[in-house]
Amino acid sequence: MKNFTRSMLIFCIVSIIIFMTIGIIKLNNLHDFKDEEPVVEMSLGKEEIEQIYEPNPPIIIPEEEVEMDQIIDEEEPVEKLVPETHLVVQGDTLYKISQIYGVSIEDLIKWNAIENEIIYVGQVLFVVENDVGLIVEKEVPDTLNRRVFLTFDDGPTRNTHLILDILYEYQVPAVFFVVGNSISNLNDSDLILQRILYEGHYLGLHSMTHDKYILYLHESAAENFIEEMNLLQALIFEKTNHFTWLYRPPFGTFNNFTQNHIDVMKASDFNGWDWNIDSNDWSSTSVDEILENIESGLRLRHNAQNLVILFHEHNITVEALPIVIEYLKNAGFEFSPYVPTNHFMMNFLSNPDI
Ligand SMILES: [Zn+2]
Repeated sequence: MKNFTRSMLIFCIVSIIIFMTIGIIKLNNLHDFKDEEPVVEMSLGKEEIEQIYEPNPPIIIPEEEVEMDQIIDEEEPVEKLVPETHLVVQGDTLYKISQIYGVSIEDLIKWNAIENEIIYVGQVLFVVENDVGLIVEKEVPDTLNRRVFLTFDDGPTRNTHLILDILYEYQVPAVFFVVGNSISNLNDSDLILQRILYEGHYLGLHSMTHDKYILYLHESAAENFIEEMNLLQALIFEKTNHFTWLYRPPFGTFNNFTQNHIDVMKASDFNGWDWNIDSNDWSSTSVDEILENIESGLRLRHNAQNLVILFHEHNITVEALPIVIEYLKNAGFEFSPYVPTNHFMMNFLSNPDI
């Protein structure tokens, strides 16, 4: 009996020890779980925060762009016009070239803005009437207001704010064709891009690299070209929440665009713009020189209703801009903002597809 009691006592003690051990393990587990709770809360909190500060809202193509696509789809296919050109070689004269192509010397002068009948070896001349500004605009009545579009390439730069200040002062809209690399090179590029849009200007695409080899000479140049436009469009959207569809080919389409480029851009939703007046600000050393370049451009495009002027963002551009704006205002031109739904063809190839 004593043995039995002792056995029971030992059994009870062992049982208590076992239960206590299980209890402690369970408590420990509970404790472990409690320790995890804040971690769970933290990860939930992080998700919530990410939802609140989600930088990119769902992508919605603006209604006007959809309308534009439909218009393009309904259009009759238009035969492409690729300009014929002539490379001037030693011994060429305007008379000789006019005889080769069966055009008048006056037309050669007009189409190529030749001054004092001077041509030079290596010059590429248009030998067919190819410029949109000269073909289409002939039917424009004189009474219609002639519109000027100011465009600034290769930014953003340290000068963009100064240019924006001047545009604001004169209440003149513009298009800024920005480069991906330029955006990356500036710390406050986000603010500049946002300011451009906020103040009513248009942001255009001018490639990521601005590299002639990658964009025009490489075997996949056309694919590279559209890829860079897509990347830049996404980058601008990331920074401004704004989609842009207008691009300007670096160095212009003339002598650069291949049939592949035309095909690829035709299949895209992008619209391209060259220019029909070059301020040549990149090579000018004075304000007067820039003004003269614009004046001679205006003389050449006297029949054009739409004047798209090419500028960059150089110091001399900033200096010349108020004088140029005042000159154009005094001459009666109307400054226009770029509106995608009112897009018009403006390219050296006279091609409505790009
Ligand atoms: Zn450029």
